[in-house]
Formats: sequence, structure tokens, C-alpha cells
Amino acid sequence: MKKRESFLSYGRQWITEEDIEAVVEVLKSPFLTQGPKIQEFEQKVADYVGAKYAVAFSNGTAALHGACFAAGIGEGDEVITTPMTFAATSNAVLYCGGKPVFADIDERTYNIDPKEISKHITPRTKAIIPVDFTGQPADMDAIMKIAEEYGLVVIEDGAHSLGAEYKGRKVGTLAHMTMFSFHPVKPVTTAEGGIIVTDSKEYYEKLKRFRSHGMIKENLSRDEGPWYYEMVDLGYNYRMTDLQAALGISQMDKLDRFIKRRQEIANIYNEAFKTMDSVILPHQLEGAKSGWHLYILQLRLEKLKSSRREIFEKLRADNIGVHVHYIPVYWHPFYQKLGYKKGLCPTAEQWYEQALTLPIFPKMTDEDIKDVIDAVKKHVK
Ligand SMILES: *Cc1c(COP(=O)(O)O)cnc(C)c1O
Repeated sequence: MKKRESFLSYGRQWITEEDIEAVVEVLKSPFLTQGPKIQEFEQKVADYVGAKYAVAFSNGTAALHGACFAAGIGEGDEVITTPMTFAATSNAVLYCGGKPVFADIDERTYNIDPKEISKHITPRTKAIIPVDFTGQPADMDAIMKIAEEYGLVVIEDGAHSLGAEYKGRKVGTLAHMTMFSFHPVKPVTTAEGGIIVTDSKEYYEKLKRFRSHGMIKENLSRDEGPWYYEMVDLGYNYRMTDLQAALGISQMDKLDRFIKRRQEIANIYNEAFKTMDSVILPHQLEGAKSGWHLYILQLRLEKLKSSRREIFEKLRADNIGVHVHYIPVYWHPFYQKLGYKKGLCPTAEQWYEQALTLPIFPKMTDEDIKDVIDAVKKHVK
């Protein structure tokens, strides 16, 4: 097999002429930000997942921050989450003065293990933030059952799982609040962008205030006149623009097609690699329909002559944009300074050492897929 001509990244957006026109139209309109497109986009995402409310944010991290605020997380509150995620998940807890508590993963699904959650519950526990890592929903029935028992709020980090399903239900109605991200590598994009969907009016109103400086124009404490508004919470400017919302509306029309193609690619990979005894394929729980944001192989290093790093570098040298998701969050120097110690979640740590992400995105051609398969077969030895 020859080296590919061009670098194949692990994930990439797919922008059409239609998307471009939708954005240009907003540029010619009177509203560049917080105009009619925001509401239309929120409604579209809420309808798609079957939630009552949606609040769009400038990015997924800001949306998670908003959800932690709405959940009332504050100084000293503990929030249980997974170490196998992007740092933004637990950072949102820190923004609110809370303490992230890391529970280990289920090695088959790579998602937080409900049995591990139970072990970490204390009188200070306030919330759980499961992550639908790679696009496969976390075991939400088990998680919601624990939450109910202890009166906890569940914020699902669905950055990877817009359009994914759990026991026949779309992600977005399984938790009290669910976050989706619209970063370019995510299921659909608004360049930067995020959203919280919820069925709770109370959360909805808190999220809207939080996004815009904590200000309100209704239910005011005084009647000073038509110009009057009040700031009632310490909010932020976390608003999405109408340009981004217009792109999102246009992209949402393609979501199901994008996911179908991701599933197709995952099936082709599974078929191609199932006879290799040096790798473990991504396991799917019964009833889970993944959005296949990521396709991750686990290398059985005891059966390989090369190290993961050598395999990674050989694949990169052949222009196959492999990646590794994720470094356990509490390994980062910032978290180490806060006092988290290596060894906290042994399953996640071992899993990380063996993980290798292959390219998967809807615009990949059959030729691209074949290049990846050939290169994996050549270098995973
Ligand atoms: C991308 C991502 C986020 C953050 O989303 P942004 O829109 O990039 O701020 C949070 N959690 C996970 C798991 C992500 O992959």
C-alpha cells in the first residue's frame, strides 16, 4: 500500500452550498445576533430530540457551565463524572465552585459505570454528568435510577451523541438537561456553538438568563418604565449569533444522513477488523444506537510487537489522521495541582493506554475508508 496523497483527519465538517447561502442571508438581514434564527434553531433541535425547551449557547462548554449553574451547583458541591472525556465536562463544575469526582468507566462501553457512581455518593453529591463518549449513550436508565434515589440532577454531556438513541429514545430526553456541541468535528456544526435541551421550565428560564448577563425584562421587582430591565443573577455573554444559528438550522436537515453514513463506516471497519486478534472492537450495549462520533480500537498490546506510539506514528506517516481520545482528565497538570492522583480510575487509565481513534466522518469516501483499513492492517503488528 502506498502512502495517501493527502492527510485524512479523524473528523471533519461537511458544509454545502445550501449552508453557505443560509449564512449569507443572515448577513443581509437586520439581525446578526439573537434575532429570529436563534429561536428557530432552538425549536428545531428541541423538536428533533423531543424535548420541550432548548437554549443555544456560544459553545458547548458555555452550555455546560449554564447547566451547572441552573442545577444550582456551588461551593463544596460534588459532581460525579467520568475521566474519559474532554476536560470541558469537569471544568464546568469547577467554574461553579463545585468539585468534580471521577468515577471509573465500564471497559466495554468506555462510558461511566453506574456501579462506580454509587460508590462515590456522599451527602455533598449534587449532580451526575455522564458523557455519551464516542456517541454511544451512557447507561441512562441505571444512572437516572441512582439520581432519583439520592435526589441528584443529571446533566448529560451529549457532545458526541446528537441523533443517537437509547432503548428507542433519542438522546435529549433521558436526563434532566442534555448538552450538545456544534464544534466542526461534532455531529453537525455551527462553527462554535452549544445547546441545552430540557423539559423543565425552571431550568429553561435560568439558562436563558445565564446566557445573557443574568438579566430579565419580565417579572421585575419595580416598574420604572418601558426601558427598564434588571440583572438578577451573575450571568455571562454566552450568546450564539444568528449567523451560527442559520448554519445550524441548515445542518440539522442533514443530521440523519450524516449519522447513517457514520454507521455505515463503523460497520465496514467492524467487518474489516473482526478477524484481527490484536485489537478489540468498540462494543455496543443492547438498545444503544450510537451516533459514531468516534471509532476507537483498543490495541491488545500484549499481542503486538510495536507500541501504541510506534503504531500511531507509522499511521500518521502514511497520512492517516489517527488520534487518541482522551487523556484521563485528572492526569492534566491543572487537576494534579488540585490534588487528584494518578491511579484514581484504573480501568480508564488502562483503557487510555490502549486506545487508538481512527478517522470517521460523513464525508469520507469509500477510498478513504479502504486507505484506513489497509494502513491499520499494515501497521498494527
Ligand atoms: C466538544 C466537547 C465539549 C465542549 O464543546 P465545545 O462546543 O467545544 O465547547 C464538551 N464535552 C465533550 C465530551 C466534547 O467532546
